[in-house]
Amino acid sequence: MKNIVKKKAMYKSIVLLFVLFCLIGQYNKVSAVKNAIVEKNLILIKDESYELTADLDYEDEMEYYWESKNPEIAEVDADTGVVKAIAKGKTTVELYVDEEIVGTCTVRVEIPSLNVKKKTVEITDTFQLTVGKTEQEVSYHSAKSSIAKVSADGVVTAVSAGSTKITATLFNKTTNTKTKYTCTVKVKNTKLIALTFDDGPSIYTPIVLDALEKNQAKATFFVVGSRITDKTKGHIKRAEELGCEIGNHTYSHINMSSSSLEKIQSEIKKTDKKVKSIIGSPTYIMRPPYGSLTEKTQKNIDKAMVFWNVDTLDWKYRNTDYVINYVLANAKDGDIVLMHDLYKSTANAVDTIIRGLQEKGFKVVTVSELAQAKGKELVSGKKYYSFKKS
Ligand SMILES: [Zn+2]
Repeated sequence: MKNIVKKKAMYKSIVLLFVLFCLIGQYNKVSAVKNAIVEKNLILIKDESYELTADLDYEDEMEYYWESKNPEIAEVDADTGVVKAIAKGKTTVELYVDEEIVGTCTVRVEIPSLNVKKKTVEITDTFQLTVGKTEQEVSYHSAKSSIAKVSADGVVTAVSAGSTKITATLFNKTTNTKTKYTCTVKVKNTKLIALTFDDGPSIYTPIVLDALEKNQAKATFFVVGSRITDKTKGHIKRAEELGCEIGNHTYSHINMSSSSLEKIQSEIKKTDKKVKSIIGSPTYIMRPPYGSLTEKTQKNIDKAMVFWNVDTLDWKYRNTDYVINYVLANAKDGDIVLMHDLYKSTANAVDTIIRGLQEKGFKVVTVSELAQAKGKELVSGKKYYSFKKS
């Protein structure tokens, strides 16, 4: 009886030892697998090739070869270890020495493509370009950025009428190769107009902003610094968030023709300071109150002077229908329209004006967008009345 128990215990020990031995063997094999191929992960674009490197301390008589688990996704040359990407997917390339796997590398094959290959847009429209699903670096370039520009992260903005190609370059850090994709952008020759509002911000400015937001239009506000208060500063912030432009209209609506240069500059500076505290940047354009400006002052002010070529005389008529009819009857491509967000009658006209302009095929943009679209640069100390393409 005792002997049988002893024998059983001995068998148990032998089985345990065997299992342990197998586990250790397995462990050694796993660690060898982990270390033999230098590249553990490889991302390739379809048709790309890459030569894997093995860090093997093998003897000359050892037979070794490379093999792909799924050659339909990535092939590998048995002798050289050159991997070729065939189709989208993921597979493993293995390295064998004397029939034993001594290394593996995960190979992912991507087929990136641009989300947009051809697009027709209107001036100031934006859209996002992306190169499919990829973990690689992408850079963007526009052949003609005066027609459509592209940001570092692929946001395209239509600037002026015409056609351009935007290239997305994908850089594969492992293989050191570049793959290029192009998107053709056609910007329609849309009629453009800039609505400008002087003398605000006022309690009526939100009516103007509502109309702009509702109709996806933009405007330019030439603000008077003294009117920017705790009650009205939110209107400037909202205007900026809607993509509108903020211009300078002095601090206390002074007549620049009868003021000293010193006084004028201090007025502009004071307004800029307030604007900057709200939207983070000062103004780059200005409109002299009453359109009054001497040549000497003009040259000494560090802002583009934006006048107008369509005068609604809204301050004189104070009549909503009159303003609507006047703008719609006189609007032409490239115009700058003068209005005032200081009057309720004007603010109430804006929604109908924008809808009417859009029905006539106009896009309602800011002064800077209008200038850019017409190929004009806004230069400090220069006067602008309208922007017609030359
Ligand atoms: Zn004014």
